Amino acid sequence: MKHNYKYSLDTSSKKFICPNCNKKTFVKFIDNETQQYLNNNDGRCDRESKCGYFKKPTSNCITNINNCITEVIQPSYHNRKVLQEYCNTKQQSNFISYLFKHFEPKAVSQAINLYHIGTTNYWHGATIFWQMDTKNVIRGGKIMQYDCKTGKRVKKPFNHVSWMHKQLKLKNFVLQQCLFGQHLINTISKSDTICIVESEKTAIIMSILITNFLWLATGSKSGFKENMLQPIKEYKIIAYPDKTEYHNWQKTSLLLNKQGYKIECSNLLESIELENGGDLVDFLYNK
Ligand SMILES: [Zn+2]
Repeated sequence: MKHNYKYSLDTSSKKFICPNCNKKTFVKFIDNETQQYLNNNDGRCDRESKCGYFKKPTSNCITNINNCITEVIQPSYHNRKVLQEYCNTKQQSNFISYLFKHFEPKAVSQAINLYHIGTTNYWHGATIFWQMDTKNVIRGGKIMQYDCKTGKRVKKPFNHVSWMHKQLKLKNFVLQQCLFGQHLINTISKSDTICIVESEKTAIIMSILITNFLWLATGSKSGFKENMLQPIKEYKIIAYPDKTEYHNWQKTSLLLNKQGYKIECSNLLESIELENGGDLVDFLYNK
């Protein structure tokens, strides 16, 4: 058999213990260059309907119909100059104005600097949440619009979400997201606790209110997954899913804990009266 594929599922009959259901029904991916198994987590469980576990080696890959991986696409990065250009601008984004109105200015300034919160007029007064990884490389800049009075997202007449690579018209930009605030793990020690929330806004406000934890955001419900959380595997993690997302995040937490993660998934928001999709900041301000 000729191998044009970077990785493919092992075609031998060898089966391993599935990281999800713990049955010996797991087919691993093989690196076709070295003929070695990739690791214990990338592969497919043969109990398709009862378990369904299937994890590919990377999210940025091209696969064929047999799930062989033909090409791994390298993620793109932004030049660090964007930080000078879009952070600490004279004009404040609506979100930054909101923060200064409601929280202690010194703490707000510190949060802006730590998380590199930017401003752009893609929409007038829009906010940029740069996603910087542990190597301080900028993976992307998410643009969102907030109302400066309420601090809420502007979702009408359309959901105001875009990306800096679109604004900058960077062709063929390959967006590979990381946790918002991920670069800050370089500033903590291995014994510290990391709290994970969905929205960038919540991570920033919580970092101002509760300073003894590092607050990171997934940026979306679906962002709570292995390849996003991998860089913080060694830490004690508390996840605070938005209201009604608890069961999904809890399921992921249990799965990852079997792989050595230490995630505690909080059901705090499920048990209290809060609108669906509500988060920690809504909880603190509506109580
Ligand atoms: Zn399984």
